[in-house]
Amino acid sequence: MLEALLTDDDRRFRDEVRAFIDASVPRDLRERVAAGADLGKDDYVAWQRLLAAKGWLTTTWPAAEGGCDWSPVRHYLFEEELALADCPPVGLTLGVGAKLLGPILCEFGSAAQRARLLPPIRASAVWWCQGYSEPGAGSDLAALATRAELRGDEYVVSGTKIWTSYAHWADGMCCLVRTDPAARPQAGISFLLLDMHAPGVTVRPIAAINGRHFFNQVFLDEVRVPVALRVGAENDGWRIAKSLLLHERLAAARVAETKKRLRLARSVAERIDFGGRRLADCDWYRMRLGALEIEARAIEQTALRYLGQTMAGTPPGPEIALLKVRGTELYQRLYDLLCDACGEAAIPLAPPAADDPAAAHAFNANRMYARGFTSAAGSSEVQRGILAKSLLPA
Ligand SMILES: Cc1cc2nc3c(=O)[nH]c(=O)nc-3n(C[C@H](O)[C@H](O)[C@H](O)COP(=O)(O)OP(=O)(O)OC[C@H]3O[C@@H](n4cnc5c(N)ncnc54)[C@H](O)[C@@H]3O)c2cc1C
Repeated sequence: MLEALLTDDDRRFRDEVRAFIDASVPRDLRERVAAGADLGKDDYVAWQRLLAAKGWLTTTWPAAEGGCDWSPVRHYLFEEELALADCPPVGLTLGVGAKLLGPILCEFGSAAQRARLLPPIRASAVWWCQGYSEPGAGSDLAALATRAELRGDEYVVSGTKIWTSYAHWADGMCCLVRTDPAARPQAGISFLLLDMHAPGVTVRPIAAINGRHFFNQVFLDEVRVPVALRVGAENDGWRIAKSLLLHERLAAARVAETKKRLRLARSVAERIDFGGRRLADCDWYRMRLGALEIEARAIEQTALRYLGQTMAGTPPGPEIALLKVRGTELYQRLYDLLCDACGEAAIPLAPPAADDPAAAHAFNANRMYARGFTSAAGSSEVQRGILAKSLLPA
């Protein structure tokens, strides 16, 4: 069905993306991504600079600010080609500057903020992290308690942020803070840009369930932020924070990532021994994998249908939440299947000597990592609540 949405120009564009990947993305980087290796900041920065040099790091920005002005189909094609070719992700946590803050500055930033902050993001010269969640404010984000008090031409910020991905690599944090404790929760929030190297910022690592370090808790103790680094008006941060959701709605289904993993599940079955038989010959495995493949196709068709509607000028409404629910839950079930197939060999969590995406330990590490997909960016339960409210009769 994707083919039906493509024009000849789109096909030429796809060829251009493939040619770029072949010619410019180092093979060893793609092999390490395929192997599930833990890439470092230098790897991601080098990758983002490759994209930046081609003008493809800030694809969702308006063309006047250095974006691509692509149709939704092109965005979809681009993301799919990168994922299927094992390029590193530039998602919301690994590309906060390009994917989250950049679009926000383009829409809500002052001319001075855009002139100062957008060029280093376009060049991947600074690393940003996202400071929204707090120990008492996750799904109920409006309950956030980090306080920012205006003193002269500075805010003094105190509180704590949690689950802040890659804060230990970051130069800056875009964060939501409470500037008016007396207002109703959503009305008293502002959007500030905070220097992670400023006095009073402490980053404490949190080991993730798969043993890797990407999460942190960030403590803010009277951190000073110039008023010039507030985006939008004071107490208007909630509207700004919510606008971001529009940028990543289709990506949430993880269609290309799931396709790639289904391919892996099919190929490893040829060589995994299950009780003396090839896994690929075991009916239980073939039936479960087949069911997942059918469901993945259904999710892809739904994503493409929404894409077609968007192209026709009638984008879907809240029902798009079902893509995230079904896509992330399918991804989890795929790794459950692979771990079931490996039995107790999938249990050890110790880092392997060499990364191998088809090794039992890698299945388990991925399975654990994927638990977070149904919590981050709107948990499955919350999404189901949205679907129920918007689609079911009152
Ligand atoms: C991989 C990953 C990366 C992340 N990176 C960042 C980051 O960089 N920056 C950042 O700010 N945050 C980040 N987060 C945090 C993420 O935004 C929160 O985990 C998410 O908002 C959920 O909040 P919580 O963890 O506090 O869970 P809670 O909101 O406490 O939810 C706990 C449970 O209660 C359920 N629940 C809550 N409310 C309802 C309701 N109304 N109806 C039904 N069930 C409900 C939830 O579904 C969940 O099962 C990240 C999370 C993950 C997993």
